Amino acid sequence: MKITQQKRQRNKDRRERLLAAGLCVTCGHVPSLNGQYCESCKKDHKNTVSSSVKKKILLGLCVNCTEKAIPGKKMCKNHAKQYAKYEQNRKIRHKENLQLAEHIV
Ligand SMILES: [Zn+2]
Ligand SMILES: [Zn+2]
Repeated sequence: MKITQQKRQRNKDRRERLLAAGLCVTCGHVPSLNGQYCESCKKDHKNTVSSSVKKKILLGLCVNCTEKAIPGKKMCKNHAKQYAKYEQNRKIRHKENLQLAEHIV
């Protein structure tokens, strides 16, 4: 238990150091434009996210929290509402939100 916590702390320190240096927080290489990850780590990161999202969808849970999703949807009532609002904004400010959309989807 203690070792895990130490490890986590070390990872956090490392992450913060790399982030402060403007390097990829996973491998320390030069990151892609305005990102925390380099191109290859970004791909890995995306895969990790999408596999945990897939698991949640299988379990019928909201992809954004631990609430039950609306049947046939990937989100709970609250997040579906938020997402609808977000989609509306996205259509208006499509370009500005491209970066954000990457994180949500
Ligand atoms: Zn990297
Ligand atoms: Zn939710």
